[in-house]
Amino acid sequence: MDHDVRRRALTARLDEFGVDALLITRLLHTRYLTGFTGSNGQVLIRRDGALFLTDGRYTEQSRREVADLERHTYTNPLREELPGLLAGTGKLGFEAEDVTVAARDRFAEALGGDVELVPTTDIVESLRAVKDDDERAAIRQAQAITDAAFTAILDRFAVGVTEEQVARQLETAMRDEGADGLAFDSIVAFGENAAEPHHEPTHRALAEGDIIKLDFGALAAGYHADMTRTIAFGSPPAELRAIHDVVRESQQAGIDAVKAGVTGAAVDAVSREVIERAGYGEAFVHSLGHGVGLEIHEAPSLGRKQDDPLPAGAVVTVEPGIYLAGVGGVRIEDMVEVTDDGCVVVGTSARDLIEL
Ligand code: ZN
Ligand code: ZN
Repeated sequence: MDHDVRRRALTARLDEFGVDALLITRLLHTRYLTGFTGSNGQVLIRRDGALFLTDGRYTEQSRREVADLERHTYTNPLREELPGLLAGTGKLGFEAEDVTVAARDRFAEALGGDVELVPTTDIVESLRAVKDDDERAAIRQAQAITDAAFTAILDRFAVGVTEEQVARQLETAMRDEGADGLAFDSIVAFGENAAEPHHEPTHRALAEGDIIKLDFGALAAGYHADMTRTIAFGSPPAELRAIHDVVRESQQAGIDAVKAGVTGAAVDAVSREVIERAGYGEAFVHSLGHGVGLEIHEAPSLGRKQDDPLPAGAVVTVEPGIYLAGVGGVRIEDMVEVTDDGCVVVGTSARDLIEL
């Protein structure tokens, strides 16, 4: 990963942010900017180069992982050593989403009147929204594991197996395929439980004619995958079969609408239209999709209020759903890579209704 390119992108924009230096405190952002995977590390972005900061537990690990960067190990609380590292800095930007009010006050006290603390938002987040080649490769790898686990699990369904057992089998299958862990707790919902968009697996046993909703994903090299499939065990109720067709069509319309420059709201509207036309508008209770990367939910989003144009290089999910209380529900979800001409679906699992 070319972490230096990312750091230089921030250095180049310090003036735009109205600061002389920027203190990155969010651990995930430290990882994004340096490759450091320990539990405590910060990055000071200065005009004359970046500085990696950590405590004594990580001197060795950072020597290895952050070899290309000047490093400083602090022995006192960071705020006490900061003044010595900020020579010539009048305005220091900090990540307002990450620093508590109490921490900001302590920093301000330690810095005295010489350095003005400037809250910033959405700086690294917006950088993260556009994935580079290495990130896209990691996401593809996480999704390949997820696809393989889905295929592996299909012959495990039998009358009496519980949601909770399937969730555990999914986890084992993903780990067997090389996942570092789960991208999130798997959602496994049988029959009427599929009416809950985010159902937690229970001891509900599978029965003939149940719909099965699976929302899961692998974690690989820090990157997440996210996929939902709704399949049928035996012959499902006619309405659920019809709903699957509607959601499938809605998802395809959404995928066809994704393109760099189009807003998240516009894509959401295209998918939602299909569901509204079929009479289920009220039953599509969430937004269409979200960005995926180092976090399972990140920028950019596909939803009614998302008026920013999608950037090429973003990875977003397209996941329409219809949920009918007491009956069941259907969601189909895939990650897509946004390109200048449209998008590329990351996964390979079939999207038509599978009837086991
Ligand atoms: Zn999702
Ligand atoms: Zn999902």
